[in-house]
Amino acid sequence: MFGRAPRRSNNSKYYEVLGVSKTASQDELKKAYRKSAIKNHPDKGGDPEKFKELSQAYEVLSDPEKRDIYDQYGEDALKEGMGGGSDFHNPFDIFEQFFGGGAFGGKQQMFPGSSSRVRRQKRGEDVVHTLKVSLEDAYTGSTKKLSLSRNILCPKCKGKGSKSGAPGTCYSCHGVGVKNIMRQIGLGMIQHMQTVCPECKGSGEIISDRDKCTNCRASKVVQEKKVLEVHIEKGMQHGHKIVLEGEADQAPDTVTGDIVFILQVKEHPRFKRKYDDLFIEHTISLTEALCGFQFILTHLDSRQLLIKSNRGEIIKPGQHKAINDEGMPHHGRPFMKGRLFVEFNVEFPESGALSRDQRGALEKILPPKPGKQLSDMDLDQCEETIMHDVNIEEEMRRKQYQRQQEAYDEDEEAAAPRVQCAQQ
Ligand SMILES: [Zn+2]
Ligand SMILES: [Zn+2]
Repeated sequence: MFGRAPRRSNNSKYYEVLGVSKTASQDELKKAYRKSAIKNHPDKGGDPEKFKELSQAYEVLSDPEKRDIYDQYGEDALKEGMGGGSDFHNPFDIFEQFFGGGAFGGKQQMFPGSSSRVRRQKRGEDVVHTLKVSLEDAYTGSTKKLSLSRNILCPKCKGKGSKSGAPGTCYSCHGVGVKNIMRQIGLGMIQHMQTVCPECKGSGEIISDRDKCTNCRASKVVQEKKVLEVHIEKGMQHGHKIVLEGEADQAPDTVTGDIVFILQVKEHPRFKRKYDDLFIEHTISLTEALCGFQFILTHLDSRQLLIKSNRGEIIKPGQHKAINDEGMPHHGRPFMKGRLFVEFNVEFPESGALSRDQRGALEKILPPKPGKQLSDMDLDQCEETIMHDVNIEEEMRRKQYQRQQEAYDEDEEAAAPRVQCAQQ
């Protein structure tokens, strides 16, 4: 059928339509198509005829076999070879294959291809990982390098699965993946039903052993190890999502999903965080609480902060003080920082630490005891008590357990008559 003389006049149109030279590489073709297809897409007010032309040109030139025929014999030969020009794909179909589903507005559309096989661009699944980082990382910002393995389209067969690049349409179902069968279910009654094609198991595709890609063994994908860089920005919060677009597993006819990292900021032994504020606890002695103190705090970026009381200042147990601009950087505006709160614990001397003389000396220095002195008569009228040391949390737990036990017992004896207990 290609036996006639070449008609050179008719084999440059496709190149002109795409605006590339006849020696253009696949990459150049791709770029040229991408640019003009977006510009001329009817959804964007482009000319439908022009768009169809573009898609047709790209369909032919992007296929090495078809390009060969076109270069030698021109458009007509190609049409004849493909059965009178009827075998061109829907131009939207090409466009969708190229850009992925929903290039304009995320709508997934189905376009029946010329072979009656319905093509659809699926979206691959996103892969979600948690990423543990230190509070230091979130304070200063950092970059994590992670090595992940994923599926990529086989580079040898470009995800076709075959050496020839032929789609390997199933001979049995013609690529549809399902077959219509007729079954006689009674006298003169025939049932039509659809069944998954047994030859290709519904994939619509069979690649002959001879034509199988040697690299991926016709699976179309191969594993690839890739080092990903994840940027932790200053001030990012626990639970922040970092999205690396299109880095998930690749698959044929599929828009690659994203890899999503969910930040987990590890607890810090010293600093606690609440939004952009930081909190630390600091224990000082009673002497420091009364007479002043200073200490050095190593911040999350290793700076040494000198923290000291004001002259004459007395710190009470449980008191908070705040230092401006020493909290966390605000994500997105890292020059803005929260506050650093210091909660003070005051450590008192142990019982017996003070001698009689020291106690006397202290009484003279410290403010006088409140209230009036108790007279002997006051004391005579009182009953004396003894105070014991207790662990208050432990006591409360025991009390609660006791109450639960009693409630349980009451339920058990619900039917039994109550005995009133009069108090003395
Ligand atoms: Zn089949
Ligand atoms: Zn392959």
